[in-house]
Amino acid sequence: MLTVLFAAPAGLLPDYETPLADALAEFGLSATIADESTPAAQIDYVIYAPTGPVQDFTPYRNARAVLSLWAGVERIVGNPTLIQPLCRMVDPGLTEGMVEWVTGHVLRTHLGIDRHILNQDGVWRHYAIPPLARERRVTVLGLGALGAACGAALAALNFQVTGWSRSPKSLPGITCLSGNEGFSAALAQAEILVTLLPNTPDTENILDSAALAQMPQGAVILNPGRGSLIDDTALLAALDRGHIAQATLDVFRTEPLPPEHPYWAHPKVTVTPHIAADTRPGSAARVIAENIRRDQAGEPLLYLVDRQKGY
Ligand code: NAP
Repeated sequence: MLTVLFAAPAGLLPDYETPLADALAEFGLSATIADESTPAAQIDYVIYAPTGPVQDFTPYRNARAVLSLWAGVERIVGNPTLIQPLCRMVDPGLTEGMVEWVTGHVLRTHLGIDRHILNQDGVWRHYAIPPLARERRVTVLGLGALGAACGAALAALNFQVTGWSRSPKSLPGITCLSGNEGFSAALAQAEILVTLLPNTPDTENILDSAALAQMPQGAVILNPGRGSLIDDTALLAALDRGHIAQATLDVFRTEPLPPEHPYWAHPKVTVTPHIAADTRPGSAARVIAENIRRDQAGEPLLYLVDRQKGY
């Protein structure tokens, strides 16, 4: 019998209890879901969220792996008490949610939907006809689980999609660029830019004033990745001088975004409160159970975090 610690906020347990029990049974595992009242030495696996009760992993010396409920692992990856393998969440439900948020906001931007929603004043205006998707260039920074899925969905709608990642890739329908030399070319294509990079030392402020200047005049930024990717001062300046036409931001350096932050009142910024894509208990429970099964069977864990790279 395995003991699996649910080290996410206790309020989430009712959502996860049944999906986890069902998924563990489906994968042929005999396991109990424990909370912190269980002696730490008895824990075989830790299901982790950064907002949960466990930040010191020292007592969990017998745990074989830490399984994150979050895709982004910046709040745990540098934790010196963590000696176990760390797996990030790659959840089909979360991915679907991200594809929907990104596709929705790309289409909103592409079609100029805000003009009609925000200016309904009794005047029968005809704006210029928007280009077709096949005439619109969209760049996705990050071609991991989420960036690749969003890129594929946008390509299926006929957008001209360029993607950028650390390592070279080949993905159908996407012009794949990589490394420093690919970065400028990816930005130059970005009439609409979608940022799906992780928060690491290498990606901190990756959209600084120099990067923003390489984007086309009037470009739009959608950031469902992490707030740390954007130099906020540089973005506000680029919005104010019109080089960047609009930004829709889901993630911020400080969350909740403080009420006095200039993004809230900026006419060219849409704030969404870190809701682009949530982990879904049903599908995430199966991902966790599958990983425990693999580990128990001596197979390599899926979605292992590279502690050196930070994601
Ligand atoms: P992932 O599978 O780890 O993919 C990360 C991608 O970023 C990879 O393609 C990677 O390149 C690329 N990358 C990382 N560092 C880079 C660098 N220095 N230069 C160029 N490319 C770099 O991550 P994911 O599952 O797609 O998730 C991406 C991020 O989305 C998460 O880290 C999280 O911050 C965010 N997120 C947000 C929400 C929300 O609700 N807003 C929800 C979930 C996740 P390689 O492929 O070459 O390694």
